[in-house]
Amino acid sequence: MAVNTLKTEEYFVQEEPFYHPVSDEVTVFEAAYRNHLPVLLKGPTGCGKTRFMEYMAWRLQRPLITVSCHDDLTATDLVGRYLIKGGETTWVDGPLARAVRAGAICYLDEIVEARKDTMVVIHPLADDRRVLPMEKRGELIAAEDAFCLTISYNPGYQSVLKDLKQSTRQRFVALEFDYPGSDTETGIVARESGVAPEVAARLVKFAGMTRNLKGSGLEEGASTRLLVHAGKLIVSGIDPVVACRTGIAQALTDDPEMIIAVNELSSSVF
Ligand code: ADP
Repeated sequence: MAVNTLKTEEYFVQEEPFYHPVSDEVTVFEAAYRNHLPVLLKGPTGCGKTRFMEYMAWRLQRPLITVSCHDDLTATDLVGRYLIKGGETTWVDGPLARAVRAGAICYLDEIVEARKDTMVVIHPLADDRRVLPMEKRGELIAAEDAFCLTISYNPGYQSVLKDLKQSTRQRFVALEFDYPGSDTETGIVARESGVAPEVAARLVKFAGMTRNLKGSGLEEGASTRLLVHAGKLIVSGIDPVVACRTGIAQALTDDPEMIIAVNELSSSVF
């Protein structure tokens, strides 16, 4: 019976990703990694968590396997399943099993979106047992020394139904992410989009205004990611107010009144 294994070279981050540290997250992550401690990244969408993981994978020279969790994602999807190919039964490792065997960094993005049964496989990996139960094969696989489990979640979105349980969160070293300070964010937006620093600073100012509307009509303010999008549109010759409308306001909400309010904010900045 064949077992599919990972072509590790495909998962290595070849070039240094641009990541601007915001606090002590790089040194804390490295210390957690060296101590075999799993890491939880908390923070709003688009504030640099994925980029940070790419950077850490490059820095630690480990393959990075990222899974975007969704409400249909099951433990089987993570661990693996039997498939019948040309009359032969083949076991195909899921992404978590591949990472465990290869000593990769496994990043489970938005973990609370996944089905509850995924926790059954995450818990024994996230404490000092560091084993992955493969129920369908009746096996427990021990994680390679270099394996690292990282999960992310956005506390802002959580409802009582979709919160991270204490039994899960108390297994992880938690790093809090937020939008970078304005000077840092201006530098990031300028570098990532190619827009002039002066324009980037205005985008950041506008973002701050939308972030103040969080909870009073907006679920979230504009993320760094959206600022980069608007910046790219501006570099391609789109008028800044139009870039903010299409790249930011429309992405934030469908509420016609909020869109008008957000557009007024961008017109006041540009
Ligand atoms: P998240 O995973 O938190 O949703 P991402 O890591 O995808 O967010 O960040 C969105 C974009 O914002 C990145 O592609 C990058 O352009 C930019 N970005 C945010 N924070 C940083 C940072 N600290 N350094 C470099 N780029 C950043």
